[in-house]
Amino acid sequence: MANTANSGTTTERDESNDDVSESALDTARRQLNRAATHLDIDPNIIKRLRHPARVQRVTVPLKRDDGSVEVFTGYRAQHDDVRGPYKGGMRYHPGVTEEECIGLSMWMTWKCAVMDIPFGGAKGGVVVNSKQLSSAETERLTRRFAQELREVVGPTTDIPAPDMGTDSQTMAWFMDAYSMQEGETQPGVVTGKPPVIGGSFGREEAPGRSVALIVREACEYYEYGLDGTTVAVQGFGSVGANAARLLDEWGATVVAVSDVNGAAYNPDGIDTETVPSHEEEPEAVTQYGDETIGNEELLTLDVDVLIPAAVGNVLTQMNADDVQANLVVEGANGPTTSMADTILEENGIPVIPDILANAGGVTVSYFEWLQDINRRQWSLSRVNDELESEMLGAWNDVRAEVEDRDTTWRDAAYIVALSRIADAHEARGLWP
Ligand code: NAD
Repeated sequence: MANTANSGTTTERDESNDDVSESALDTARRQLNRAATHLDIDPNIIKRLRHPARVQRVTVPLKRDDGSVEVFTGYRAQHDDVRGPYKGGMRYHPGVTEEECIGLSMWMTWKCAVMDIPFGGAKGGVVVNSKQLSSAETERLTRRFAQELREVVGPTTDIPAPDMGTDSQTMAWFMDAYSMQEGETQPGVVTGKPPVIGGSFGREEAPGRSVALIVREACEYYEYGLDGTTVAVQGFGSVGANAARLLDEWGATVVAVSDVNGAAYNPDGIDTETVPSHEEEPEAVTQYGDETIGNEELLTLDVDVLIPAAVGNVLTQMNADDVQANLVVEGANGPTTSMADTILEENGIPVIPDILANAGGVTVSYFEWLQDINRRQWSLSRVNDELESEMLGAWNDVRAEVEDRDTTWRDAAYIVALSRIADAHEARGLWP
C-alpha cells in the first residue's frame, strides 16, 4: 500500500489545448484558473487546490474462480475536504488511472460546492474489466478493495458511491466488508446502496431528474417555457432516459433519443415511456421512432434544447459550429470540450454545465448519508421535494453570478463553487 500524495505523479504540466484528448485533470485545473480570475482569492489557496490532498494506491489480489490469483491496482484520490468528508464514485474499468481519479476528484469538489453540500471531492476505482469477472469474483474483489481502503474511507472521512462498472450490489458488499471490520453496521460508509440496507429512494433517478429540473428552469429563464419545447437527448441510459421521460411528462416534445448505435427520431415527438432505457433493454433505441438518425446528426438537430447524456467529449471543435439548439444542458460528465465551449459561447448558445445539471446524483447521495447517520428513511416524495429545493437553490445562486458578472453558466457555476471553497479555506487557515 503506497501513499503518493503530491508525489511526482501529480506534477504540474501545461494544460493541453488539444480538443478531445483534454484530460479530466487538465479540465479541472483550467476551470479552477478561469474561476480564480473572477475572484479575489489568496493565490496560495489556488495553489493548494491544484493538487489532491491524498492519493491512495493499493494492490488488490483476487482469487479467481479457477483458483489462480490475479493482482489488480486500485486508487482513491481525495482532493479537498475543507467543507466536509470526501465524496465520489468508485469505478471498475480497464481505463482507470491515477491521473483520471485525481481530475475527477477535483470535479467532485466543485460539484459538491456548487450544490452547497458539505462534502469534498474524491474518486477511485480498480483497473479491471468488470465484465470479465463473475459475480463471486466481483464480490471478493470489492471486499478486498474495501479492506485496502479501510484506513482512508469511512462515514465521516470519505464516502464512495457507484460509478462505471459498479452498482448498488457493489456498494452493499463494500458496506458489509467495512462494517464487519468495524464491528458495527455502518451504512453511511457508502451511498447508492439498495434501500433495504440504508439506500435512498430516488437515488437512481436523481441525476436525470436534476437535468430535467434545470432544463425546466433554463427554459423559463430564456422565456420559452417547457410546453412544446423540442428536446434531443443523446444517451438513453440512467441519466438520459430519466431526464427525457420527465421532460416528456412535463409537456416538452422529445424529438430524438439515442444509444451507442444511433438515434430514434420523430419530429412530432417520441413517446419516451415506450422506448426501453439502457437498463431495461440495452441498445434497443433505434428500433423505435419513425426514423433512425446517427448520433452526430442528433447533436446538430434544430431543437430548442440539446442534452448530451451519454459520454464525455462529444461536442468538440469539429461539430460545435453545427449545433443548432438554442440551449445545451449537460447530462453526461464533460460532454463539451473547452474549444467547443468557446465556439458555442461565440455562437450565443448557452451551456448549462454538468456540475450543476447532473448534480442530483450527489445531492441524493447526501440525503442517503443523512438518512444513514440519523437511522431514519425518507419517503420518495420527500427525497424529490428536497432535491427540487436544493436544485432551485443552486440554480438561483449560479443565475445570480451569470447576471452580475455577465459570464457563461459554466464560469458562473465554478465561481460559486470556488468562492465557497476559498472562503472555507480562508476561515480555517493553513495548519501548521
Ligand atoms: P448508462 O450506461 O446508463 O447509459 C449510457 C447511454 O449512452 C446508453 O444508452 C449507451 O448506449 C449510450 N452511449 C454510450 N456510448 C455512446 C456514444 N459514444 N454515443 C452515443 N450514445 C452512447 O450511463 P449513465 O449512468 O446514464 O451515465 C451517462 C453519463 O452521465 C456519463 O457521463 C456519466 O458519468 C454521467 N453521470 C451519471 C450519473 C449516474 O449516477 N448515473 C451521475 C452523474 C453523471
